[in-house]
Amino acid sequence: MASQIPALPQSYAPGTDSVFSDQSGFYSLDANVPGLSKVILNKLNMKDYGQYRAAVEGKAKGISFRNYKEMFQRIEETFKFCTGCNKLPDHLAKGQTLKRCVKCLNVYYCTKDCQKKDWPQHKKVCKMLRLVAIDRLVEWLMFTGDLPLPTEKWSKSVAEVKNWDDWLPMQGDLWPRLDAILSGTNMATLWKNASRARPDDADLRQSLWRLQSEFLSRVLTVGTAMQRFGLDPSSKPITIHLAGASHNETMGARLTDYDELTHMFPGHQGIEIVMVGPEVVDSSIMRPPLSAFGPKQRVYISAYKGLYHQFWEELVEKEEAAKPDLVVGFHPDFDASQGLDDGWLPTLLLLRDYEIPSLFTALNETEMTYSLQILLELEMDMKGNGANPFSSLKPEVVGSCPNKPPVYCNSHYFCFQGLLETVEFEEPDEA
Ligand SMILES: [Zn+2]
Ligand SMILES: [Zn+2]
Repeated sequence: MASQIPALPQSYAPGTDSVFSDQSGFYSLDANVPGLSKVILNKLNMKDYGQYRAAVEGKAKGISFRNYKEMFQRIEETFKFCTGCNKLPDHLAKGQTLKRCVKCLNVYYCTKDCQKKDWPQHKKVCKMLRLVAIDRLVEWLMFTGDLPLPTEKWSKSVAEVKNWDDWLPMQGDLWPRLDAILSGTNMATLWKNASRARPDDADLRQSLWRLQSEFLSRVLTVGTAMQRFGLDPSSKPITIHLAGASHNETMGARLTDYDELTHMFPGHQGIEIVMVGPEVVDSSIMRPPLSAFGPKQRVYISAYKGLYHQFWEELVEKEEAAKPDLVVGFHPDFDASQGLDDGWLPTLLLLRDYEIPSLFTALNETEMTYSLQILLELEMDMKGNGANPFSSLKPEVVGSCPNKPPVYCNSHYFCFQGLLETVEFEEPDEA
């Protein structure tokens, strides 16, 4: 049977009949921009993009906002609890309000007393949290289409680009492009409606760059994983599965999201990315994977909603999806509360037994170390680990305690392939 290669659609331009088209930015939520991140959704107490959309349209029960001001207020409300005693606004005495730390604008306190008591902990992270507080608002520009910025062709070979310091000079002068966003209408809308003063331009430029780095971190991590396993896309097409793909990568994902790989490996024979995970969000990338080679010098993205081992049984085994040359996972968190058995274990065993080159990332060294222990117990043949040179540069607070040191997406990596061969020594001959 001749395999069908789906046509590569041009990047999608939203129609003017969209319900969002009368509000600047909102129309583009539909299909062509990386959408609301999980972080924002979490802050809005929403599960997915569908719920968000329903809220914007006023259809969701209990959740709706009429304008940007209300949306940003909603986001801010989720931060409103006393960092000292965890008191929520509802539990405050009459006339009492939560006050923000004026330095970071990221944490709240019910009284001066609570703030004083918390200061020894908070002072360690206050400076960093100031950046977190800016980024969580600027992140909105990821789904208005202002970010990510388009990138330039590589003037250096893959081997010469070892980290961000090598990558950045190839982009020419970033500042004018960042300044165009600074003076754009969406940036103005943001600070008109956010419940805080606009930070100065230097802060905003840095924030835009941090958000851009978060987006590119995933692509460049995939590219460096190919190198680590010696995969040469100029000699054959390469299929890469992103196992455990989440909202972060798939919400409003665009077909062009991995085009940086073409800059990285010019003249490649075709690179296919399949995002697989139970949290995959419906978007333009939700289409079948390739069962045969894709177009040369193009990156083809598709997605599958479900657990990786189900995807394997349903599509890979039936040869409806190509076997992967590489599997990458972004901070899978094997430690997650639901337990390893239900989620990752079948996938890890599958990757091991099919000897698939695999690379995963972690949010910090502790998470990496914990993951390594699990993989050693599974007798994986570990191929390396350490700090990821293309870590996201955007600090993020995980969990509900704001005074924890921030983490960075893809800050560490570890890779493995197949079962560890245990060397058996022959019994020496009896003399
Ligand atoms: Zn308090
Ligand atoms: Zn502070």
